[in-house]
Amino acid sequence: MKLHEFQAKNIFAEYGITVPRGVVVKTPEEASKATQDFGGSAVIKAQVHAGGRGKAGGVQLVRSSEEAKETALNLLGRNLVTHQTDGDGVPVNSLLVEELADIDKELYIGLTIDRDFGGTVLIGSPYGGMEIEEVAADSPEHIHTESIEPVIGLMSYQTRRLSTKLGLDQDKARATSKVMDILYRIFTENDCSLIEINPLIITQQGDIVALDGKIDIEDDSLFRHDDIRKLRDRDQEDKLEAEASDLDIAYVNLDGNVGCLVNGAGLAMATLDVANAAGAAPANFLDVGGGADDEKVAKAVGIILSDPKVNRVLVNVFGGILRCDIAARGIVLAYSRVDSHIPLVVRMLGTNVDEGKEILANSGLTVTFANTLTEAAEAIQQFGQ
Ligand code: GDP
Ligand code: MN
Repeated sequence: MKLHEFQAKNIFAEYGITVPRGVVVKTPEEASKATQDFGGSAVIKAQVHAGGRGKAGGVQLVRSSEEAKETALNLLGRNLVTHQTDGDGVPVNSLLVEELADIDKELYIGLTIDRDFGGTVLIGSPYGGMEIEEVAADSPEHIHTESIEPVIGLMSYQTRRLSTKLGLDQDKARATSKVMDILYRIFTENDCSLIEINPLIITQQGDIVALDGKIDIEDDSLFRHDDIRKLRDRDQEDKLEAEASDLDIAYVNLDGNVGCLVNGAGLAMATLDVANAAGAAPANFLDVGGGADDEKVAKAVGIILSDPKVNRVLVNVFGGILRCDIAARGIVLAYSRVDSHIPLVVRMLGTNVDEGKEILANSGLTVTFANTLTEAAEAIQQFGQ
């Protein structure tokens, strides 16, 4: 689950990292008033679950309350398209109005899970700011990392070493090390999968301030974080993905047009490969899970059918805990609910497979049965692009 910048900054402040004074607003009038309160100048920042806002016009410096009002009017109620969003962008429903900072230096620090290392890594760069992705791509030698042993935790020599690589003098290195320590505490105590401060600035007065904040929380930990669960903003999420997550269905929306219904994550991955091998891009990853009943299958198929990209459906079910007849009933139920005629390619094996196939064969739907993944791929091709 992603948090908004202002939510991340609230957490930073609670833990003792300095953030600029700021107010979250939802109207141009409030933006104007907040700017006035800050002495007539401010930075106005679109609150969206996407990075790259600065380059996309989602972060604007304003020098008067009138300018603040106009800027807010232009941002609110629109979608912001950044290089991290799809072509539709994400809706701007609130703005963070902040006191202007006098920037001397922009640093990058972050924490994420590194799969190669098998644990958390602390990342830092002296070249923070909007070009960090270019720095990482063109001059990776400016990106420094410290791998954190989970049992030992982040050691002070590691934060010292990293701060030194950020090119800071002793005082600033000490203060930045402290920010890193706090960040690691936030990361572990809240089950984060990512935290970034980009930029962490050194002001002309010598203060160290988190000017931006990004926190992602591991979804599977949300059951034990009541406070964080409340911070969810569904407006920022893919509609179908949000619906699926409510139903406890693992679903990821993709670009292609083959809707995929599968039980089991490994089988779902294999199914995406089959669709791709057939030269037909999958519209989604979907794992309906082992314990689904016909209603849950129907809801899953309903999600697939409500995706306008989908022009054929590939079902790959291995009947174990989820029996084939239940899957078949769920599919028929979903199709009848929306009166869909989108053709199906079905590979079914396992418990009650004959009954499952019979239900589908007698359903009046366009169903092609496949016994193997290769046959399924061929059948998917038949339905064209
Ligand atoms: P992002 O583009 O989504 O990462 O948004 P950021 O919050 O990082 O803002 C982008 C850039 O705007 C920063 O790297 C800064 O250079 C600039 N910026 C943000 N706030 C201020 C501010 O208070 N004063 C000044 N001078 N620049 C700011
Ligand atoms: Mn940023």
